[in-house]
Amino acid sequence: MPLTPAVDPSIADLDPARALFIDGSWKPATTTFEVRDPGSGRVIAAVADGSASDARSAVDSAAAAWTSWRSTAPRTRADVLYGAYERMRADLDRLAGLIMSENGKCEADARGEVTYAAEFFRWFAEEAVRPGGAFGESPAGGTRTIVTHRSVGVAALVTPWNFPAAMATRKIAPALAAGCTVVLKPAEETPLTAMAIARLLEEAGAPPGVVNLVPTTDAPTVVSTWLSDSRVRKISFTGSTNVGRILLRQAADRVVNSSMELGGNAPFIVTEDADLDAAVQGALVAKFRNGGQACTAANRFLVHEAVLEDFGARFGAAVETLRTGPASDQRAQIGPVISAGAAARIERVVAEAVQAGARVSHRAPLDPDLTGHFVAPQVLRDVTPDAAIASEEIFGPVAPIIRCSSDEEILTVANQSESGLAAYVYAGDLQRAMRLAEGLEAGMVGINRGLVSDPAAPFGGVKQSGLGREGAREGMLEYTETQYFSVDWPNQG
Ligand code: NAD
Repeated sequence: MPLTPAVDPSIADLDPARALFIDGSWKPATTTFEVRDPGSGRVIAAVADGSASDARSAVDSAAAAWTSWRSTAPRTRADVLYGAYERMRADLDRLAGLIMSENGKCEADARGEVTYAAEFFRWFAEEAVRPGGAFGESPAGGTRTIVTHRSVGVAALVTPWNFPAAMATRKIAPALAAGCTVVLKPAEETPLTAMAIARLLEEAGAPPGVVNLVPTTDAPTVVSTWLSDSRVRKISFTGSTNVGRILLRQAADRVVNSSMELGGNAPFIVTEDADLDAAVQGALVAKFRNGGQACTAANRFLVHEAVLEDFGARFGAAVETLRTGPASDQRAQIGPVISAGAAARIERVVAEAVQAGARVSHRAPLDPDLTGHFVAPQVLRDVTPDAAIASEEIFGPVAPIIRCSSDEEILTVANQSESGLAAYVYAGDLQRAMRLAEGLEAGMVGINRGLVSDPAAPFGGVKQSGLGREGAREGMLEYTETQYFSVDWPNQG
């Protein structure tokens, strides 16, 4: 099928009909699928639709390349990653444009994502040359123990649409740094950004087969093909908890090493001694970055009753000023949600909350002429701790506020979720903030900050938010197996 004209200049130098990147070549598939701009609904590209046989070819290529990539000097691997970092920075405008086209993010969010995504290449270029290890004498004497970290092998990477660049680089960079080769399946909604990333790794000198890309509309087939292949030794998945469970079950058959970055339900806590101006600014970032479509997005605001009215009024007033619009609207702060289905789901969640007794206290205006999938930013008050909206991931620009009357109640409500990814605490007294933070069942806690993502920090969750960490040194260890040598080494007389 011929390629739909690449109407958007930012994708003009990609060839989406040849989106399969296998063994260093860009290949077509037997069919294509359409990618749409969620801000307008218009088709922006027809992308090669990978099959099970393409998935197998990608593993053939990655397995062959692993032999030499794992023994390539760490400095050489680092140079490829650093080259990718430099290219990504230099190409920021085009990559941000690409994300705006296929994901719908507003410009500031898209630029922020590219900058964040590039940092994973830089950080892991720096980590690649510090593989670490240990040397020690055994307690009984007479032997020495040498501990090394060796690349695990071919890694299957599966990424979501909400951060199409950063979720890919957060996996590819540590995998390559550790000496793994990768097969990547991007989300069906956002394959073009993944193409651009594979292209810049190719340009930075990644040898053929080290990075392979298989966009598809048949994720279950492509990913299960990988998980049943004995050459695939690692699955790293970012996405919903439901799909994570499916993949963990499949991984169990061959006991595949698994890293899971799953859904969140972040509490945003405001105590009565918090700096409310700072809390409102932090709340806007934690809730509305990316239109609320972030796994770290504040999902429930737990506010002490002494500051409930004040915080609610100030936060609500700020929310009412948020401008929603397509990425082409340079003044837009909130973009569309990813699909009509997502918009309908969010509206349903709000309607159910209102039926259960909540009220919409503040709502930003929405231009009735908008044609994409838009949801008005809004604040809900009188939400009870056990309301459905407080237990499911909203993934949109809706902020439910729950009244709490003590730190103990705050912790009980915060921890009653099965998720435990991010949490946020705003408190005036740092000791109090730390006491709350230590009581939270969450992998990451922002303290007087509305943002926790940092390539140099270990990102990940507890409970059903996942297994393992990305970023930091921990992120590279996820792509290694520990091996030790026990060496006969008699003590000197
Ligand atoms: P999703 O689980 O629907 O899809 C994620 C990826 O899995 C996509 O590539 C998709 O094609 C693929 N997939 C879907 N079904 C599959 C199956 N049966 N077998 C194999 N692959 C399959 O999630 P989404 O809607 O794309 O993303 C939103 C979710 O991701 C939210 O729950 C969000 O919290 C989570 N997320 C988590 C993190 C994190 O770091 N913890 C980061 C971003 C997003």
